[in-house]
Amino acid sequence: MKKIGIFDSGVDTPEEIIIAAGFIPYRFFGDPTIEPNKANEHIPPTHCVWTRNLLELAITYLDKDIVGIIATHGCDRTNREFDIWRECLKLDFMYFLNSPRKRDNTALKFFINDINEFIIQLEDHFKIKITENDLKEAIKKTNKIRKLLREISEYRNKMIITGSEFHGLVKDVQKLNKDDALEILKAKLENLKERQPFSKKDYKRILLTGSDLDDTEFIRYIESLGFQVVIDDLGIGTKYFTNDIEENGNPIESIAKYHLNKPIHATKFPSYQRFEVLKKLATEYNVDGVINIAQKFCEPVLYDHPYLRQKFKELEIPYMFTEVTYNREAYKQLSTRFSAFAEMI
Ligand code: SF4
Repeated sequence: MKKIGIFDSGVDTPEEIIIAAGFIPYRFFGDPTIEPNKANEHIPPTHCVWTRNLLELAITYLDKDIVGIIATHGCDRTNREFDIWRECLKLDFMYFLNSPRKRDNTALKFFINDINEFIIQLEDHFKIKITENDLKEAIKKTNKIRKLLREISEYRNKMIITGSEFHGLVKDVQKLNKDDALEILKAKLENLKERQPFSKKDYKRILLTGSDLDDTEFIRYIESLGFQVVIDDLGIGTKYFTNDIEENGNPIESIAKYHLNKPIHATKFPSYQRFEVLKKLATEYNVDGVINIAQKFCEPVLYDHPYLRQKFKELEIPYMFTEVTYNREAYKQLSTRFSAFAEMI
């Protein structure tokens, strides 16, 4: 089955449209073991390390089943760098979806228009027809996936699945054919019901937030330092499955509303609303602390940090912020800070 690649700094791409068009939505992830040498010819080295890595991978190796790419406006990286992707890749089908930064009625109309334009361009280019029924079926499928992910996510809180195992699962779901993903999730849920909790006392319970961290090895690394991610507000995490899409009514409007109502990303307005989401999660999950990680040069998350630090201080919830370089060797340099935080909480 052919794929449409997704370049998205959040999870704002309407996968259901791609599924209804008969393709696999395939989100691009990076590889922290490579250097972005070719990407550095196009993007200054002081810009987001993660998107430079994605461009490097796209230039050097693109899955042969990828017949098109959609870039969704998450932050300015996906916006401005998409022009560079177009120059470097020259795929026949490339679309920029202008997911709005605001969340009001004007933004909703704007988003619906752009989603409609995406559909028209898919239909024209691939000589297909995307029907209302196709869209409704796709919505039902992704809702089932979201429901299963919500259930599985709770096993992190019960210390039955590690944060890293769960992270790997969410990542797979964002790359796989959704029918295969459904089967994997169902099997995982059955498996988890049979498992016993691992020791609770050895792990500090944390809420993980920040940039979209796509290296599962990083989560494994912080686990090795004594933390369990019991909850997160990441795109490779709860932002991907907290809400469902309304199954009745106009599917395009429902998809647009879903994206404008899900937990807010640091790149959207007003970004400080993000604190309310974090506060609720930290309280509900009774965490020992909050860890906020910014990928190197991730401006949206850097901007949020002083505000979040102040607000968590007021709540007396331990909070740690750090920037991380997208390189596994560099993770090790953070061990002293993480260990000190683990001891402090
Ligand atoms: S890591 Fe930050 S700067 Fe980079 S794409 Fe994501 S939100 Fe944008």
